[in-house]
Amino acid sequence: MTRLIFLGPPGAGKGTQSKILADFLNIPHISTGDILRQAITDQTPLGVKAQGYMDQGELVPDQLVEDLVKERLDKSDAQNGWILDGFPRKVTQATFLEELLAKLGQGEATAVNLDAEDDVVITRLLGRGRKDDSEEVIRRRLEVYRDETAPLINYYGDREKLVTVNGNQSPEEVTTELKNIIAA
Ligand code: ADP
Repeated sequence: MTRLIFLGPPGAGKGTQSKILADFLNIPHISTGDILRQAITDQTPLGVKAQGYMDQGELVPDQLVEDLVKERLDKSDAQNGWILDGFPRKVTQATFLEELLAKLGQGEATAVNLDAEDDVVITRLLGRGRKDDSEEVIRRRLEVYRDETAPLINYYGDREKLVTVNGNQSPEEVTTELKNIIAA
């Protein structure tokens, strides 16, 4: 049973790799960023609440993402494993996830730390052209990553639930490494 979460700075390739792996394993790819962006497009109450934070590169309030993750992991297609992309993003969300999985009777998640250097990720993000990929917002997202999300590397490391993959490699090389990890 595969339950993976992805850590790593914006632009490290979390979205690309987690989609490929989820397809390969035939389990859902659950991206909180994708779900929030869709909610903004649809102008749902969630989207309206999240938009201002996302445009500025800030994290949306825990409650918003926690509610959506809780609902999503309870669905029938999530009972045979999943890949979470973009959650948890801070320690409070990680403890929430741990408690949620226990409540749902699902086993613990393994964290993949997809590490990449700042200059690599900034170049990639500037080429991507999403609304929150302006240089100023990218800089803020990297700051938020270092302050809020990077501490999760130790959180999962302390629990012996962490694997690290070098995200500076080509996408194909990263995929190969990830498939080897899953098979191990
Ligand atoms: P990236 O990894 O490129 O930063 P995401 O699509 O994962 O992109 O996230 C985009 C934005 O969505 C974040 O900057 C944040 O505002 C919001 N977001 C996504 N997931 C979370 C989360 N778990 N907690 C708070 N905000 C989130």
